[in-house]
Amino acid sequence: MDQFKNYIYNILLEPSIKSELEYFVQEFEKNPTAYDFLVDNPQGVQENYKEGYIGLSQRYAKAQQMLKKKFPGNTHLIQFQHQLYELGTFYLHWQAFLPTIQMLGTPEQVKHWQDLSFNYQIRGAYAQTEVGHGSDVQGLQTTAVFENNSFIINTPKASAFKFWPGQLGIFATHTVLQARTTVNGKDIGIQTFVVPIREPKTLKALEGVEVGDIGPKLGFLRADNGYLGLKNVRIDLNNMLMRYTKVDESGQVTTSSKNAIKYGYGSMLNLRVGLVNVFSIFGLFSNNLAYYQVKPLLKTQSIENEAIIFRLLRSYVVSYAQIIANAQVKEIFTRFQNQLKANDKQVNETLQLVHLYSSQMKSIAGWEAVKTSREAMQIAPFGHLNASDLTIIYADNVPYVTYEGDNNVLMQQTAQYLLKQFGKVSGGNAQFTGMASYFNKYTQENNQKASLQNLEEVLERLSYSFCKKTMENFQNNLINGHSIQTSWNELNQCELIKASVLFGYTNIYKQMGAQIKSSGYSLELLKIHKLFGLFIILENRTTIVSFGIADFKQVEILAEIDQQFSGNNKLEFLDYLANGVGMYRQRNFINIDWDKLNLKARL
Ligand SMILES: Cc1cc2nc3c(=O)[nH]c(=O)nc-3n(C[C@H](O)[C@H](O)[C@H](O)COP(=O)(O)OP(=O)(O)OC[C@H]3O[C@@H](n4cnc5c(N)ncnc54)[C@H](O)[C@@H]3O)c2cc1C
Repeated sequence: MDQFKNYIYNILLEPSIKSELEYFVQEFEKNPTAYDFLVDNPQGVQENYKEGYIGLSQRYAKAQQMLKKKFPGNTHLIQFQHQLYELGTFYLHWQAFLPTIQMLGTPEQVKHWQDLSFNYQIRGAYAQTEVGHGSDVQGLQTTAVFENNSFIINTPKASAFKFWPGQLGIFATHTVLQARTTVNGKDIGIQTFVVPIREPKTLKALEGVEVGDIGPKLGFLRADNGYLGLKNVRIDLNNMLMRYTKVDESGQVTTSSKNAIKYGYGSMLNLRVGLVNVFSIFGLFSNNLAYYQVKPLLKTQSIENEAIIFRLLRSYVVSYAQIIANAQVKEIFTRFQNQLKANDKQVNETLQLVHLYSSQMKSIAGWEAVKTSREAMQIAPFGHLNASDLTIIYADNVPYVTYEGDNNVLMQQTAQYLLKQFGKVSGGNAQFTGMASYFNKYTQENNQKASLQNLEEVLERLSYSFCKKTMENFQNNLINGHSIQTSWNELNQCELIKASVLFGYTNIYKQMGAQIKSSGYSLELLKIHKLFGLFIILENRTTIVSFGIADFKQVEILAEIDQQFSGNNKLEFLDYLANGVGMYRQRNFINIDWDKLNLKARL
């Protein structure tokens, strides 16, 4: 049991924060209220934003000092707080503002802004999205024009207002901001700037800055999502982040390599890779809340219980599968960083892998988090009460399908990749490469029947067959005279997304298999892996049959989840899975907080 818990703990948490976390947990047990800063009180912050935030920032700063005493140098626990519990109040300060500077700034810029950020002298937001532009970054309309050793930033029209950024509403003193940039009359593309927007002490907007909160929303109660318009705001030349593209005082522009910008943004994929874990953890949390609430009722077997157990099992298995598979993606990301440092030629290929894996997994983890937390509310007897915490987790999960890349947009990037791969081999000479290379196993076969003992093969064939059919339909539409736009947007978009989703689930299965292999086999890990494959197959039975991969009877037998268990050991396995979440503080997650219900007053 503890072995599994440790395994998940080890692949989830950055090595740098483990010892800090252990120290904290120890201190927390001694004196729970003193270290309560890890738990935001979203309601409290909502009721009184300014005091709530200022109180929180003081507590965080105190915690930071306490850690520093024990761990000299930069501490990591607060920056990676999201890995432990939830998307805290300062999530974007630590996870978007600061990392953008760390990735895109020169060493001097990083030092300057990092020092100010670490002790909350400044608090940052990440302002990319505009009213009229979210997914289409190249369409951004905010402008930055070089003039006399500075940049003048403007919001030229209403659709160019920055809209949505967290922390921008009330609390941010600075923001990183993307703007279309012109130097000496030449458009040098979208660049990233650090823009001061408020007086740090009074929180008053600076001159030329129109900034405020966008109002009540679903979820993210502790985040003050905001809007921002800028009128002739002058910032120092050095506020442009210049690791890859530099502008000097005379307006001379230099770019360190032609792929530089791509690498810069590639480095930001770290955020997306991290979020896959965050939302998988949220899946596990929701499931634990539901499981511990419903557990006493599961003792007697009945048909309803079967349905509940089945759904709990699926949610656990999918969430763990994502975390385990994501450990591989994290390794690929580390490889990308090392290759980048070493000027290795493979870096482009590795970057493409990280991009594709992380965007598929971000999308799948997002959809799954919404589904899991929704079902948890249904399963838990008090699931729809705020006091159960499930409503809060659910509301936080929902927007994840949109931010950090809209899921349907991200999935279409995989579709583009697949289309290129099929285009390449349709001539007959080339082979599928990269993450699609397993398709080569199936190109020459007429008989699509899979060996049903081998789940990987069933999934690979399912993914290959669906992708092939979709890409053929797309090509036929082009041959029949439809434009690329029509073939994509009007005739095949849903199928292109579905093909990418199946490709994505198959990749999770494969990556999870690779991860389990590299960590040494354990029976329980193999069981989670197998169950994950079975659930995906079960949910795609009709497609599997329609492609002739297996007949209906075979698929029904294969996907009989019950056969994986004997007697009562489905319940035992649920216990095992629930315990794997145990390395986090479970104060709010085991039992409903009866005090919060305030039943007496109502009776
Ligand atoms: C809670 C929350 C927090 C956020 N925090 C931040 C933040 O801190 N900083 C920040 O900069 N932004 C933030 N955002 C904004 C978020 O990143 C954007 O909402 C997201 O990128 C999508 O952009 P959009 O809203 O303009 O939607 P669009 O991109 O316009 O998408 C709208 C719809 O159109 C579809 N669509 C778009 N393009 C295509 C296409 N090519 N093909 C097919 N369909 C398409 C999408 O699937 C979607 O259904 C946040 C959003 C939310 C909800």
